[in-house]
Amino acid sequence: MAANIRKAAVIGSGVMGASIAAQLANVGISSLLLDIVPTTLTPDEEAKGVSLEHPAVRNRLAANAIAKLPSLKPSPLYDDSFASRITPGNIEDHLSQIRNVDWVIEVVVENLAVKRELLRKIEEHWKPGIVVSSNTSGISINEMAEGCGELFKTHFLGTHFFNPPRYMKLMEVIPGENTDSDIVARIVEASERRLGKGVVIAKDTPNFIANRIGTYGLLVTLQAMVDKGFTVEEVDAVTGPAMGRPKSATFRTLDLVGLDTFVHVANNVFDKVDGGDEKLIFEPPQVLKDMVSRGWIGEKAGQGFYKKI
Ligand code: NAD
Repeated sequence: MAANIRKAAVIGSGVMGASIAAQLANVGISSLLLDIVPTTLTPDEEAKGVSLEHPAVRNRLAANAIAKLPSLKPSPLYDDSFASRITPGNIEDHLSQIRNVDWVIEVVVENLAVKRELLRKIEEHWKPGIVVSSNTSGISINEMAEGCGELFKTHFLGTHFFNPPRYMKLMEVIPGENTDSDIVARIVEASERRLGKGVVIAKDTPNFIANRIGTYGLLVTLQAMVDKGFTVEEVDAVTGPAMGRPKSATFRTLDLVGLDTFVHVANNVFDKVDGGDEKLIFEPPQVLKDMVSRGWIGEKAGQGFYKKI
């Protein structure tokens, strides 16, 4: 059955979308990589006198994400030439092409309203047989699919890749209450046999399993740093290589994830619990909110807890 996934569409070309498309390319699955249409020109585009309607401008977000892949360290691609397996485009002009793929993976910003609206648009171009999944870190799969047709819901589920997808073996698969068991089996098989993932089936609870636990740990660590006056370097020194976690020191991880995304993920639980310890723990600390409002959102912005030089 895994052979049924020949072509995919990845929607959202940010931190995760571009590297999920890269991991698909690594195993021979070609994909469309779609993002929104830019609303402003870059100084370079202005100097060249191109208009916002120029195809290169309209496709810029996705095209830039692909161009960046080989230069990232470590590269999300096994081989730079595999980037040619990814076709960039903008969602307005190219969404109808999802009719030609086997698997659509939604990887846009962690916001229920945005994901819901996108899912409706996907459904307009969808046909039975095409699997649609969300890479949400913890938004309810059932809530996301509310308002979609019954047949569509049978083909929709969560596939939560971990960052960076080339290296992280874990994949949470989250069936919705209407997801067809054959669709779940098809994606589990493709994830395990093609993508080399270790799949854990998770219930549709806020932040599923990994981020319910992992976000809790990161927030407790962050609060301890603020309360006790620990430094970023001290915390990373004891939560990274010295603990046998070569790449996953606390603040390096937060910079990699993106602090804006991390605040959304913490809020997934904060917004759902009425009170008690979890409400206190999952409220993103002020220091994090301040960093996000300054645009210090991590590696993707060149500045987070660490500055990229
Ligand atoms: P990101 O902010 O880096 O990228 C999001 C991308 O989506 C942007 O390029 C944006 O332009 C695009 N976008 C927004 N609205 C869109 C729309 N309507 N149509 C098409 N594109 C749209 O975010 P990210 O870190 O890649 O996260 C994406 C998803 O993956 C989120 O649900 C997040 O919770 C999840 N996730 C993130 C990580 C991580 O480490 N960053 C890990 C696992 C899961």
